[in-house]
Amino acid sequence: MIQLSNIQKSFGKTEVLKGIDLQVNKGDIVSILGPSGSGKTTLLRCINFLEKANEGTIKVDNIALDVKTASKKEITELRKKTAMVFQNYNLFQHKTVLQNITEGLMIVQKKSEKEAIEIAKTMLTKVSLEHKANNYPSALSGGQQQRVGIARALALNPEVILFDEPTSALDPELVGEVLDVIQKIAKEGITMIIVTHEMNFARDISNRVVFMDGGVVVEEGTPSEIFNNPKSDRTKQFLRRLV
Ligand code: ADP
Repeated sequence: MIQLSNIQKSFGKTEVLKGIDLQVNKGDIVSILGPSGSGKTTLLRCINFLEKANEGTIKVDNIALDVKTASKKEITELRKKTAMVFQNYNLFQHKTVLQNITEGLMIVQKKSEKEAIEIAKTMLTKVSLEHKANNYPSALSGGQQQRVGIARALALNPEVILFDEPTSALDPELVGEVLDVIQKIAKEGITMIIVTHEMNFARDISNRVVFMDGGVVVEEGTPSEIFNNPKSDRTKQFLRRLV
């Protein structure tokens, strides 16, 4: 489903990704863990070209692109197969909850307004926010805003949803409701890649865990392999610091 080969990314002289290879199968739920600054978010953003990697190839579904030669049109096509849930929700503040979801459906996917509204309402029901459809984001809690972000991603019916630390901006008491929603949609079989610091969540939800440090994948495996029996000293050290 997704194949990343030799992804390299630098910001100025700082080498942030040093040749990442990663394969994600359809229906996989992959958590990416690692210390702050290890390149997790950058890797996620390179997958949909929110950041353009300097080297490597990215394949999503049937579109395989060399980052150096990909055309704008090819990048747009690849982006349509992905949806992102951002750390800070990234909702349009001057649009209602419903409009936040219908916008992409009408503009990117060229759906009629009627169809877009229907889809948006279905997705809002999934995240238990149908009663907030006509509110503006500012009237919602952070947890509710993030659930709108998730509904918006789901509405696009992507091949993969990319979650970039979806709960890290939330007050602790609001984290649970967002993780619950992600857990619920995970059961529907949609492919997900999740950058997270929530270790228990990663252990529960993922079928694969990737541990990154210093711009490389140090180790990957099942949650049980990574959490109960990590091979690398760096992984062990990282997990020890958390307990
Ligand atoms: P993580 O998600 O693991 O915390 P990031 O991918 O956010 O790591 O960042 C990795 C490194 O890249 C950090 O040192 C960060 O400062 C740097 N970085 C990320 N984005 C940019 C940017 N747009 N410009 C310059 N440096 C950046």
